[in-house]
Order: sequence, then structure tokens, then C-alpha cells
Amino acid sequence: MEWSRSDTLALAMHNCSHCHGSGLRLARKGALSPCNCVLRSIFRVCYTRFVRCATQEKHLSKISLEPSLGRKRPGTWGRKDEEYVADFCLIAQRTLDEEEHRLFRFHFLLGADWRLCSRKLGLDRGSFFHAVYRIEQKLGRVFRELEPYGLFPLDEYFNGPSRFPDKPVPRATLAARDIARPAHLEFPRVCEPGTRAA
Ligand SMILES: [Zn+2]
Repeated sequence: MEWSRSDTLALAMHNCSHCHGSGLRLARKGALSPCNCVLRSIFRVCYTRFVRCATQEKHLSKISLEPSLGRKRPGTWGRKDEEYVADFCLIAQRTLDEEEHRLFRFHFLLGADWRLCSRKLGLDRGSFFHAVYRIEQKLGRVFRELEPYGLFPLDEYFNGPSRFPDKPVPRATLAARDIARPAHLEFPRVCEPGTRAA
């Protein structure tokens, strides 16, 4: 995936000392790569949604119809919130190494703060926060770059990509709408000089 400014600008930190708010950095061979502040933002957006999906009342979870890619196959019904929770955990498990995943479970899934994690995992405060940053950056990138369906943008995950543009409204329908406009909403007619109002 090639990252562009439109992918990163809204997610970058304005006061980032690496990208100065643009969200892009020059990598080797002149290629552009996303700044770590962008990757962490992506992770945090996905994580906030994960917490919401995982902690909401079960009756709030909706069943939704997912359109199928093929023309002839019908769409399938799914529980998007539950799928999202499962995908989030599964991607983390696949992406992180064993040590990182242990910290991920303690801190992000079980909600342990740095004191508790430090005691359990034998880390000092600095190493804990460095590891958390590394995890956020690693997962933020995978959430966005994963093919064919990443977790981010959330809108595309939950509602599907807008591959099919809305059908344009035929001109005839537009004209009919114009005719149907109530008379009291019409602007008064302006008379041309030399003619009389009807
Ligand atoms: Zn940055």
C-alpha cells in the first residue's frame, strides 16, 4: 500500500517533531512512509471501537446484511460488532511476538496499568511505555494495510467499501420534482422591463 498525505493528515499529531503534522516521513529510497504518530492514532481509533464493541450490552449488537462480492450469490448476515472484536484480537495475536502479546493482553485487554504490568512482566516504567508504543505502531500499520479487509477505516469495515456509486438521478425525475414544488415556495417573478405581470 502506498501512503499519501490524504491518508495521514487528519491522523497526525500537530506537534509531532518527526513529521511536523504532515503524517508522512521520507523513508529509504525516497519512498514516503507513515509517521509513527499516525500509526498510533490508527491503533487508538480501532482500540476505542474495540472497547465499545466488547463492553456494550449484548442486545445493542445488530445483525446486518453484508453484500456479496459476486453477482449471483446472495449477501450473508453477520454480527459485525462480534466479528470486529474477534478480528481485533486475532490480528494482534498474529502480528505481535510472544512478549509483546503478553503485554498487549495485560494492558489493553485486561486493563492493567503500568505499575501492575511492570510487576508482572519485570519491566521498568520506561521499557513499559516503549513497548506499548511499539505495539500501537505495529498494530496500527497492520490494521490499515491488511488485505483484503483491514480494520481501518472503521467505516469501510462496518459498512463495506463504497464500490458501487449511487445511480445518478434521471433528469426527468428532477424536472418532475421542480414542478411539484409548492407555489408558496416560489420566488416572485421578476418582470422584464416593458412587460406586465400576469
Ligand atoms: Zn508524526
